[in-house]
Amino acid sequence: SIPLSFFAGLGGASRAGVLVKGSNYLETLSKTRVVVFDKTGTLTQGVFDVTGVHHNTMPQKKVLEYAALAECASSHPISKSLQRAYGGEIDRHRVTDVQEISGNGITAKVDGTDVAVGNSKLMDRLGIAWHDCHSVGTIIHLAIDGQYAGHIVISDVVKPHAKEAIAALKRAGVEKTVMLTGDIRRVADHVAEELGVDEVHSELLPADKVAQVERLLSNADGKLAFVGDGINDAPVLSRADIGIAMGAMGSDAAIEAADVVLMDDDPLKIAKAIRISRKCLRIVY
Ligand code: ADP
Ligand code: MG
Repeated sequence: SIPLSFFAGLGGASRAGVLVKGSNYLETLSKTRVVVFDKTGTLTQGVFDVTGVHHNTMPQKKVLEYAALAECASSHPISKSLQRAYGGEIDRHRVTDVQEISGNGITAKVDGTDVAVGNSKLMDRLGIAWHDCHSVGTIIHLAIDGQYAGHIVISDVVKPHAKEAIAALKRAGVEKTVMLTGDIRRVADHVAEELGVDEVHSELLPADKVAQVERLLSNADGKLAFVGDGINDAPVLSRADIGIAMGAMGSDAAIEAADVVLMDDDPLKIAKAIRISRKCLRIVY
């Protein structure tokens, strides 16, 4: 039978905006020593602002139009920002052959013309020479009809409580915080330093994130939690001892794969959930 205080723990967590899917997860939470985060949408808002379009062959508006159309079927935060920045009407009938390459970007045909929009790895994969740019933002390259057409610089900002969330985990006895991201090293290192995260690994594909979590799991003393928004991190969510997903902006797949859901996407609630779980376990034992 389930001790009564577990119900109190689940109820307390739920009043704090933390949905815990079973009493066994309270026990795992109470033993968490390593917390691994996805970056975009988890520690950052995942609401990008387009800060500049640098093109060599076509008008800025046209660059954005191709990017926004190619992205029309994606739910990635970058995709939403490009559509917002374009601002024009998105006629899905103009777009065919869409392929989303997770951690890389999109290829599609717009008005029958090949369009690729994504990071430098995507350009490398397609054999298209790209131009570097020394911006602190995330750089999204665009190629049209196999020709490089310029890049769009977009910037993401850290969530208001992200720094406090990392500090609160330390106070709650978490020994190590780690950030894993598919974004470029320059951006990742900048965010990690700003937040005080202990370890950072960048330019990862979804499978690389799983490998990193497996490495951390084998070295961890205590339990490991992974926190993500679920845009391509469902595999890591289920691999961790405990998977924590963002419930408001996160994807349905993540909410499904997770053991714990943060209803308001606030990373500060992780330390809160750990404290609630410890309190409830102390009552039981
Ligand atoms: P994170 O690990 O920070 O959540 P992702 O793995 O979702 O990031 O994406 C990693 C990188 O891949 C992005 O920074 C971007 O450069 C590129 N990318 C992923 N999806 C898209 C997309 N839909 N459109 C353009 N670029 C994308
Ligand atoms: Mg992500």
